[in-house]
Amino acid sequence: MSREPTKSAQQPPVVKSATAGFARLDGEAFPAFEAGWVWLVGAGPGAPGLMSLLCYHAMQNCDVVVYDALVNPDILRWVRQGVILEYAGKRGGKPSPVQQDISLRLIELARAGKRVLRLKGGDPFMFGRGGEESQALAKAKIPFRIVPGITAGVGGLAYAGIPSTHRDTNHSVIFLTGHDATGKMPANVNWQAVATASPVIVMYMAVKHLGEIAQALLEGGRAPKDPVTIISNASLPHQQVQATTLDQAGAHVALNNPPTPAIVVVGHASDWREMLDWYTPALRENAIG
Ligand code: SAH
Repeated sequence: MSREPTKSAQQPPVVKSATAGFARLDGEAFPAFEAGWVWLVGAGPGAPGLMSLLCYHAMQNCDVVVYDALVNPDILRWVRQGVILEYAGKRGGKPSPVQQDISLRLIELARAGKRVLRLKGGDPFMFGRGGEESQALAKAKIPFRIVPGITAGVGGLAYAGIPSTHRDTNHSVIFLTGHDATGKMPANVNWQAVATASPVIVMYMAVKHLGEIAQALLEGGRAPKDPVTIISNASLPHQQVQATTLDQAGAHVALNNPPTPAIVVVGHASDWREMLDWYTPALRENAIG
């Protein structure tokens, strides 16, 4: 039987174990997950197959998982049975008190002697506030480990057949967030510099303000016909990819309302997609990746 994760710490949900075929891993010399430790772990962009072995190990050896909205529920099915699942979700750049609550909760659980798995979508340090959370742990003298994950801005592109770098298009790439802590378009970004600094710009949380961002990039000197690709639910069976151009991006979003979470790619890296779009409907029947 499998049940959806609940918000309550009191009622640990029953999760279907997927361990059988992985029994061999139990014999491997993984780092011990000690009581009172917090592991900040990236689960990857969505497809369970994109999580790391350390992530899987942590899921099998923790007492409690504190997870974000962006963690695919299918990934939580891989957590050892009986582990408490706590939802710490917040989406769309809500202000910081909630963030502080999450950090305090991690500290509280660790001080209670739990093995705490803080599970985040993608990579914990890439626009995931893993920096802030680990700082809070460091200040509280809670021992922690960081397990990187495949970030949506790289893995998501790969699932859309877009190489983040390619010698013929770009020798650099910019990662950018389209949201600041208050949910607005970030004010402290030098848009003119961004517009000209790199042939490829990969944007997280950028759908909402895409019209404004595109305008800022155009004013900064970016070409109006630069390709813009919007990758929604990357690496998942319902992945969707929409293509437009910089001068049309705002209108495109208003008209087509691309699903979120989505990554937006600006630049000619998207040109490769025509040849490299490999994630076909037949492959999507496999939910692992
Ligand atoms: N730490 C995460 C990013 C967190 S910010 C990482 O490294 O990927 C949240 C943003 O990530 C979303 O708004 C979206 O822009 C992007 N994102 C995360 N998962 C995604 C997915 N499966 N498909 C598309 N975008 C995704």
